[in-house]
Amino acid sequence: MAKIRYTYNSETCKYEPLIVSPKAAGRKIINFLGVSFIVGSIGLAYFNSKFPNLDETLQAAENQKFKTEWKVLLMQLERTSEQLSKLEQNDDHNYRVILDLDPLDITQREAGVGGREKESAFIENPFIKTAYERSEKIKNRLDIEAQSMKQLKEELERKEKMWASRPAIQPIDNKQLTRLHTIFGLRLHPKHGDMRPHNGLDFTAPTGTPVYATGDGKVQMAYFSATYGNVIYINHDFQFETRYAHLNRYIVKDGDKIKRGQIIGYVGDTGTSVGSHLHYEVLYSGNPVNPINFFQRDLNNKEYEKLIELGSRSVSSLD
Ligand SMILES: [Zn+2]
Repeated sequence: MAKIRYTYNSETCKYEPLIVSPKAAGRKIINFLGVSFIVGSIGLAYFNSKFPNLDETLQAAENQKFKTEWKVLLMQLERTSEQLSKLEQNDDHNYRVILDLDPLDITQREAGVGGREKESAFIENPFIKTAYERSEKIKNRLDIEAQSMKQLKEELERKEKMWASRPAIQPIDNKQLTRLHTIFGLRLHPKHGDMRPHNGLDFTAPTGTPVYATGDGKVQMAYFSATYGNVIYINHDFQFETRYAHLNRYIVKDGDKIKRGQIIGYVGDTGTSVGSHLHYEVLYSGNPVNPINFFQRDLNNKEYEKLIELGSRSVSSLD
């Protein structure tokens, strides 16, 4: 039951029921609501300024976590970069030096493969952009390093082929060698009796002694020549050729592929020769060079001493 409020009437000296008109009541309610709204707004603003809301608190925690993870990612990228630097240094100062290749300069290494648009352009977040650009730099350096490794591999294969092809052993086993005529250049020709260039070395050995190819290559010609007798020409590529003359016989034919140490014929005395021996020539770029500089492979000190001991510097040769 609603309470009835009373008010004192001084004219009638009585307490009379208080009658509030609807208009007055409405004004009071509006006033009350207005004051409540103002007080509430001030209170809320104060609360918000002092205490962040839950969403903001969660967002801040999330940001902090993101920053920590971002730093871990940068550290990992830094470690990868350091490891790559070690590999690059090894490449430049060891592998490339061994293979006579120039080191790559730093601008080459940092330039990357080039011609690629910056993929990071569309990334707006500065943290992600930084990490992405660092990882892209590492990727570019890896691309260059991969190219360098490919070049090293190709150069190594080329050098291996060159080392295998280069004339590098004696064409006759030292045990069967009785004398070596080391004269190279102008000499008295034993048959013609005049001074003529001698473009090789003469290995004196019994007829039938095996003759070995001194490097990998291909038989260019194997035929009978009036001066060289039975002779074999081998092309070793890399501008090297060898010739084996006055053979008793040869056991290879034009176009045969030859490995170093393979028997290709036997010592004889054919052509313009004055005794059983092998005339051996080495040519570089088409010019005869002294073969004595090409016996380093498979020749130990003792064998080399024997070779020199057998050497003769007489003014004549055997062909
Ligand atoms: Zn000779």
